[in-house]
Amino acid sequence: MLLGRAEGGERRVTLALRCRNADPAPRRRYALDPRELLAALKLARGRGEEVVGFYHSHPGGPARPSAADLAEAHWPGCAYVVTAVEGGCAGETRSFVLAGSEEERRFAEEPVERGLPVEAGGAGLTPGGAPAAG
Ligand SMILES: [Zn+2]
Repeated sequence: MLLGRAEGGERRVTLALRCRNADPAPRRRYALDPRELLAALKLARGRGEEVVGFYHSHPGGPARPSAADLAEAHWPGCAYVVTAVEGGCAGETRSFVLAGSEEERRFAEEPVERGLPVEAGGAGLTPGGAPAAG
């Protein structure tokens, strides 16, 4: 998940949270653990930020959302970032904003600018239920 600030149609990412893939078929799809989602929302609130996007990779696939990605996308205005992975190496990264109505959702590609380094952390829950510090 990507935490940061959204202003004027732009999202600035300050923290990339690594989450476990809770999908039963994790090589083909991804799903968030609802507990990690809640922990990330709490963490964002504590930082005065919000969830501004989600990132995942496509091993052996292109850097664009699949039909399944669109079907599973439920956060309008959030960025869905996809990185192509070839031979175990990260390749192209592109970002798409979920737009349109609930009946006619679509992804609109947006430019990606690399600015300040993004903090990275795990959203994995500790036994105490708190997110790992990022
Ligand atoms: Zn995907």
